[in-house]
Amino acid sequence: MKDGNNKIKNKKLKMPKPRDRNIEKAKKEIDTLKEEIRRADRRYYILNDPEISDKEYDELLAKLKKIEERNPELITEDSPTQRVAQGLSSGFASIKHREKMLSLDNTYTVDELKEWENKIKRMLEKDVKINYFVEPKIDGVSCALRYEKGNLTLCVTRGDGDTGEDVTANIKTIRSIPLSLDQGSRQEIEVRGEVYMSKKDFESINQQRIKENETVFANPRNAASGSLKLLDSSLVAKRKLRCLIHSFGWAKGYDFKTHKEFLETIASWGLPTDINSRYCKNMDEVIEFCLKWEGLRDSLDYEVDGMVVKVNDFGLQKELGTTLKSPRWAVAYKFPAHQATTKIARIDFGVGRTGIITPVALLEPVECGGVTISRATLHNFDEIKRLDVREKDTVLIERAGDVIPKIIKVIKSKRKGNEIKVKIPKECPVCKGIVTKEKEDEVYLYCINPECPAQLKRSLLHFCQRTAMDIEGMGESIVDELVDRSMVKSIGDIYALTKEDLLKLPLFKEKKAFNLISAIESSKDRPLSRFIYGLGIKHVGEKAAMILSARYKDIDAFFRLKVEDLELIPEIGPVMAASIVRTFSLSKIKALIRKLQSSGLNLKDKFTTKVKSPISGKVFVFTGEMKSLSRNQAREKVISLGGDWSSSVSKNIDFIVAGENPGSKFKKAKELNLNIISEKDFLKLIS
Ligand SMILES: [Zn+2]
Repeated sequence: MKDGNNKIKNKKLKMPKPRDRNIEKAKKEIDTLKEEIRRADRRYYILNDPEISDKEYDELLAKLKKIEERNPELITEDSPTQRVAQGLSSGFASIKHREKMLSLDNTYTVDELKEWENKIKRMLEKDVKINYFVEPKIDGVSCALRYEKGNLTLCVTRGDGDTGEDVTANIKTIRSIPLSLDQGSRQEIEVRGEVYMSKKDFESINQQRIKENETVFANPRNAASGSLKLLDSSLVAKRKLRCLIHSFGWAKGYDFKTHKEFLETIASWGLPTDINSRYCKNMDEVIEFCLKWEGLRDSLDYEVDGMVVKVNDFGLQKELGTTLKSPRWAVAYKFPAHQATTKIARIDFGVGRTGIITPVALLEPVECGGVTISRATLHNFDEIKRLDVREKDTVLIERAGDVIPKIIKVIKSKRKGNEIKVKIPKECPVCKGIVTKEKEDEVYLYCINPECPAQLKRSLLHFCQRTAMDIEGMGESIVDELVDRSMVKSIGDIYALTKEDLLKLPLFKEKKAFNLISAIESSKDRPLSRFIYGLGIKHVGEKAAMILSARYKDIDAFFRLKVEDLELIPEIGPVMAASIVRTFSLSKIKALIRKLQSSGLNLKDKFTTKVKSPISGKVFVFTGEMKSLSRNQAREKVISLGGDWSSSVSKNIDFIVAGENPGSKFKKAKELNLNIISEKDFLKLIS
């Protein structure tokens, strides 16, 4: 240690001035980036009002990481880059809670809530007025978070209340949790909160899992607890967990008088608290508030199963104390679950773009939480087996938020003997083609017919969308018609359509038909990157498509790609690389591309790239409207010339291209004294 210090000292003494200045500069850059990232975290997770996209956020983080890598001495523990610990953890240590984490007693009716108040009033044996604090009871994983000298040092799950698991590394990946507190708090404090997944993130993670052949999570709580138990915190970071702090654990050096005061104080330190919670003067207000959320529960972006009612005054809380299991000063008011029983009329199968076949139960319509339900998802064939669900069965269904209703269980006592076991389809329900599992142990079935109408429809819509080939007018109803009438049997067929063909459809009149044909015609000139994206290769998004087409320039080069080559590109990981190579090895893709080429599609990168262009390695931000080209075209051009683009302004941007009416990015660029150029300058630069 001492030697090390000396070394640094000596180095410093000898260090020439420019190096110091560089460090100064790096430190400033780091501070600016950190501040920007923290701000973004707060807007996103606490105010629920993001200012920048996820992609832009990742870019900020990547930049910070880069500067820190060059200046490791400037890395601090509260840097956002330190949210993800390196490497895998081998397990989670058991930690005994210093103060037990108790569970709550439940009430189910307004009368029971009143009864609870009467009981605690009797215990207090004096005529005190009790104020309350009421908050939504989030269905997540309870955790205790410890801050020492303002820094987050330990996070432990509730476990059995006595002992939980140390999940510090994973909790640190949650962006709404500050790694260090803003101000005021330099003592020791433990707060408690709920780690959860928003309904939206839950849905998209499940969709992702279906695509990737993994079993889906049954509900957001399972998804949150499953994620917290991942051994690789870099994976946890991708799960977008959130956390809201709702309770005081213990503290040294603080003296809060009420729960309200506690919440307000920790919120001022930067800890996330629930804006949907409220102080209530008396039990009438408590009841009113609980009933309000019972009606509005679906509007919350997280799952709730009730409300938590707490005595606000910490003095009274202490007086009331706890039982072995739960505090006497708090109680849960549980909402009735959105459940209903109904009969399954039929079990049907749907087919997705990638060919996955999913079973769906068609129900006798039933009202559930104010909505009429007639379908419930069964996810996959394992789920059918697990539930032993049959056609004509009476089932209990549950609906939570926007989540698709699901079948909880079969009420077997209601079976009459006429129920029909579900047969795993031997053929695709849409095209009657062969179905198969990709791997033996998989729970998903696929239709592997490349011309399956169900798959084709989805592929067509993806191909024609604005960000791909941009064929205006090729919407869902038209795609349905074209495929159902066998006028389009593969993507390649759309380029053979004529106005006369379209006029045969009831949807079209002269002008509309003309417009669609022109839109199809002009899509032939789209950049290669749009085409690559439009092919719908698994894992290949817009930016990856741009990078690939700038590098390989000609569709023919894609047939020769090897995984090893692709993995050399920093933006492309092994999964994406494998998916690209697999796609281009398919004979149907080869046939499709040949067909499109003969229809006159260019499929070459039109921009002739010099190996060393004046903008290679330069990063551009575009703001305002440009006259001669769209923002996307400009970005494509930059990528094709070996440059890069970003949608957020920071010190590392080389050029800000300002068109007409530039927005806030322009202002920010000026503040940062960046190189701002006009559209004309940009055109010169790329010509
Ligand atoms: Zn099919």
